[in-house]
Amino acid sequence: MRKKIIAANWKMNMTVAETEGYLENFRTHVEPVNGVEIVIAPPFTAIAKLSELLGGSQKISLGAQNMSSEMSGAFTGEISPTMLRELFVRFVILGHSERRLIFGETDEVVNKKVHTALACGLRPIVCVGETLEERDGGREKEVLETQLRGSLAGVTPEQMLGIVIAYEPVWAIGTGRNATPEQAQDAHAHVRAVLASLTDEATAAKVRIQYGGSVKPANAATLLSQPDIDGALVGGASLEPIAFSEIVKAAVSK
Ligand code: PEP
Repeated sequence: MRKKIIAANWKMNMTVAETEGYLENFRTHVEPVNGVEIVIAPPFTAIAKLSELLGGSQKISLGAQNMSSEMSGAFTGEISPTMLRELFVRFVILGHSERRLIFGETDEVVNKKVHTALACGLRPIVCVGETLEERDGGREKEVLETQLRGSLAGVTPEQMLGIVIAYEPVWAIGTGRNATPEQAQDAHAHVRAVLASLTDEATAAKVRIQYGGSVKPANAATLLSQPDIDGALVGGASLEPIAFSEIVKAAVSK
């Protein structure tokens, strides 16, 4: 049984002051919820504050939205995995489509970051997903396979168990248009099959695959009840503590 994992990607939103109010509100709503892993990935500037407020919480883990593939040195503007570990960050989102499309991150770059994260004890949330043009051209499965093979090259079966995959169709991110539960399940089953070919069936059966793309309280339960959907990576709706807590609740025993 794969434990559901619901992650918030705040992107370039939320000041330190806003983070405090958010967490207080969110915590009261998720206090009674058990059996779901929750991750919040704030912008870098709010990580220290959130880390202090969480105080090693077992219920809510801290995530980062990106990191450098290098450990230290002359990389202006970058943040290293050791800096994240120092603040008790447990997860790091890698290869988000905004990183790929706006900042030119390739599968090779993502792969390098995956290996650095694993070596530093951070758990990567590796994002993959096709564009609308690729889906309309019937190429979504081929695109997913290429991204997974490239981003996860050289990952051992044991390491794969520490990785979370996020299937995020680019056309569904921030557009209000989510994939249908059937489209998402079909893509997730394909992702799991590719993971099995990269490792083995038993390993692939244990890896958690999140869906991301316009997840909101109204569609979360149906998406999360699909057999291969093991959680959600939530952008817009995670900025509102009550909406995000409702998505977390929708994951209970799905
Ligand atoms: C995301 O950025 O990972 C995301 C899924 O965004 P949204 O929920 O806003 O579509």
